Amino acid sequence: MSFPNLKVAQSREDKFREYLASRPTPQRFTDQQRELLAHVFAKHSHFDAEELIEQLKRAKKPVSRATVYRTLTKLVDAGLLRRIELGDRTVYDHDYGYPAHDHLVCEQCNSMTEFQSDELEALLSTLAGQHQFRVEGHTLVIRGVCAACKAKRADKPRPVM
Ligand SMILES: [Zn+2]
Ligand SMILES: [Zn+2]
Repeated sequence: MSFPNLKVAQSREDKFREYLASRPTPQRFTDQQRELLAHVFAKHSHFDAEELIEQLKRAKKPVSRATVYRTLTKLVDAGLLRRIELGDRTVYDHDYGYPAHDHLVCEQCNSMTEFQSDELEALLSTLAGQHQFRVEGHTLVIRGVCAACKAKRADKPRPVM
């Protein structure tokens, strides 16, 4: 499940180019980076660096491991992707051009279900206000077992005592 993309003033590619050009040492937008960007934003998903390397390989668009890791870091710095830490796994999610949301993460199948909650946003802004805190963002991960995995578990015969 995913949300519709937001309308944004600037394309993701333009935003990334602008970021590269604004570095203390301006950087070139390379063909490999273009391939990677096109692939990452072709469809909404949550992925880790190794999965991305595999996908690019399968799509016959191999990008070196070092370039993938470096480019992911730049995409996060540029505000196009956000990084979500899940214990021993780091996943990337669309940020620029995609609505703010949080996740329910299944510990059995690793699926990530996105949700949006106005009540939660209101609560966070009240909490921040109580601490004179200026909010710049938040990451909320609810860990547990998804409905599909729960159903599968219920099917299994119960161990005999
Ligand atoms: Zn997400
Ligand atoms: Zn699951």
